[in-house]
Amino acid sequence: MADRSFLAWPFFDDHHRDLAEKLDSWCATNLPVAHDDVDAACRSLVTRLGRDGWLKPTAVDTDDPRPLDVRTLCLSRETLARYDGLADFAFAMQGLGTGAVSFFGTAEQRLWLTKTRDGTAIAAFALSEPRSGSDVANMDMIARRDGDTYVLSGEKTWISNGGIADLYVVFARTGEAPGAKGISAFLVPAATKGLQVAERLEVLAPHPLARLFFDDVRVPSSALLGKPGEGFRIAMSVLDVFRPTVGAAALGFARRAFDESVKRAAARQLFGAPMADLQMVQGHLADMALSIDAAALLVYRAAWTKDMGAARVTREAAMAKLFATDKAQEVIDQAVQLHGGDGVRRGHIIESLYREIRALRIYEGASDVQRVVIAKQVIGGA
Ligand SMILES: Cc1cc2nc3c(=O)[nH]c(=O)nc-3n(C[C@H](O)[C@H](O)[C@H](O)COP(=O)(O)OP(=O)(O)OC[C@H]3O[C@@H](n4cnc5c(N)ncnc54)[C@H](O)[C@@H]3O)c2cc1C
Repeated sequence: MADRSFLAWPFFDDHHRDLAEKLDSWCATNLPVAHDDVDAACRSLVTRLGRDGWLKPTAVDTDDPRPLDVRTLCLSRETLARYDGLADFAFAMQGLGTGAVSFFGTAEQRLWLTKTRDGTAIAAFALSEPRSGSDVANMDMIARRDGDTYVLSGEKTWISNGGIADLYVVFARTGEAPGAKGISAFLVPAATKGLQVAERLEVLAPHPLARLFFDDVRVPSSALLGKPGEGFRIAMSVLDVFRPTVGAAALGFARRAFDESVKRAAARQLFGAPMADLQMVQGHLADMALSIDAAALLVYRAAWTKDMGAARVTREAAMAKLFATDKAQEVIDQAVQLHGGDGVRRGHIIESLYREIRALRIYEGASDVQRVVIAKQVIGGA
């Protein structure tokens, strides 16, 4: 049984505790799903999560002025990740893919949110390019103004849900100024002429991923999110909200690895006694528990700070993502060790966690990029 003591922390309200319990029992009944066909699995997960109401927190309700509740996003990701990495991915991308629409969309653009919240449309966030992942302000993709339209040309890569998404939030250079100040954001339906899946990408823990080619994709000027030149700021404010949720997913993976390790240490006999009697095993379990609690404190500190009305949580979000993902990697590696051969056996839960965790230290800003962000914040604030 996963540790629930953290739910008593003052970061949470009763509706968070209630959600965590209910989602946990939904997961216990519905997850994991088979991952043999990731596109089909992901589509089905979005449909089922949407049908049962779990995607509602991923975007704002058009009839309700309240902002996104970041603690709910984090608790949802943590819970889903404990059961199935693909379910967490399906949930997370509905939020990341529509974050810019929730925060900056017009009433017309927000009509999409009804569909992404009920699981009838799949969203994607298209920022990275072959030449600019970390150095995103250096992007090449162009959006050229032509009368009352924009024409997008260039490439995006590593796009989660690429190939199965119904809508893409796409960032492109509109040239108001050099670098970060000359980028704009656009809402592009997948069916738009010229938007092509150039390549499907396979990774360690399979998810739908693609490189996209924009062959003179023409969208009306009403597809612009926010104002021309605001795209970089929009992308960063979306990442501010969603980075703590990456930490939360890492926390879910780490908790599962820890729970499995405790079970194994109690059940497995070594040298005539339970493995848990070995003090070095106890030492590993203590380190794992410590890392998990410290990560949870940082994740829920960031989420709570945002929910309390902070305009930006750049430092808190970067700390949460960096620490929780790095520590989850260590925790899962310790779990592999404690499981012996089973830890690397294909199809074993610990083996799948070992594959699932790695990409979280790369996407939405690699670990070293988070260090740069934190350093800028602390040096700037000195
Ligand atoms: C599974 C997965 C899903 C993804 N999903 C999406 C998505 O949905 N949408 C999207 O737009 N992108 C997505 N990405 C792309 C992801 O955000 C980029 O891969 C990431 O930002 C790193 O960019 P890069 O791969 O170009 O590596 P690079 O930018 O080349 O960085 C490589 C390494 O260089 C080092 N480095 C970089 N910058 C610095 C620095 N300033 N200081 C010190 N060291 C540094 C770090 O060690 C970094 O890991 C996804 C990636 C993966 C792996």
